[in-house]
Amino acid sequence: MDPRELLRNRLAETERRIAAACVRAGRLRSDVTLIAVTKTVSAAVARLLPEFGIADLGENRPQALWEKASALPATVRWHLIGHLQRNKIDRTLPLTTLFHSVDSVRLAEALSKEALEQGRPADVLLEINVSGEASKQGFDPSGAGAAAAEISRLPSLRLRGLMTMAPYCEDPQQCRPVFAGLRRLLDAVRPQLPAPDAFRELSMGMTNDFEVAIEEGATFVRIGTALFEGIES
Ligand SMILES: *Cc1c(COP(=O)(O)O)cnc(C)c1O
Repeated sequence: MDPRELLRNRLAETERRIAAACVRAGRLRSDVTLIAVTKTVSAAVARLLPEFGIADLGENRPQALWEKASALPATVRWHLIGHLQRNKIDRTLPLTTLFHSVDSVRLAEALSKEALEQGRPADVLLEINVSGEASKQGFDPSGAGAAAAEISRLPSLRLRGLMTMAPYCEDPQQCRPVFAGLRRLLDAVRPQLPAPDAFRELSMGMTNDFEVAIEEGATFVRIGTALFEGIES
């Protein structure tokens, strides 16, 4: 099948599943944003998404984000969903709508400093290692409150919520405690922050587990494989 038709079908099916999960959870479809993770496809394929009405795209590597951002319309909202090295902040900042994976106070400080210099406030989420796997980046849940309080005091940074990656589960229901845990953490940390109402986003759920994540309160789902598997880059 032509990649355009294949992608159109994949998007329709993914949209149907997102909408059904919202109904099950008694949530509005408009409360959940689909981020199409384009890391496995070329800019030529990624460019089809805005044509199909998907304006939120994600990349996990800063350089790949720079390259695709330069090839796609400026109306795309780019989400950096992977680790950011401090020497890449200056180029990434002007292109990025939301930084999902702030995983240290040191990175937040560097981002704040550059945001202040560029006169361009940065919206950030804290990445939390809910499952405690050694291979995963992010704050330990027990330290998240203190880190959030410290980061929320930095200038030119807007702390908008939390992000996590669940471990791969054979049965996505097994990921539910991870997502519920992130939601409880958001609720526990929020009252301690100077701008509690702005701290409301939960970036959680990927191809394997996004429906469960939506049932547990995800406001952003980050989906790659379900959209692009088998589509040549
Ligand atoms: C690649 C990636 C995704 C998308 O994963 P799929 O399983 O392909 O949907 C989501 N979040 C992060 C941080 C990623 O690196």
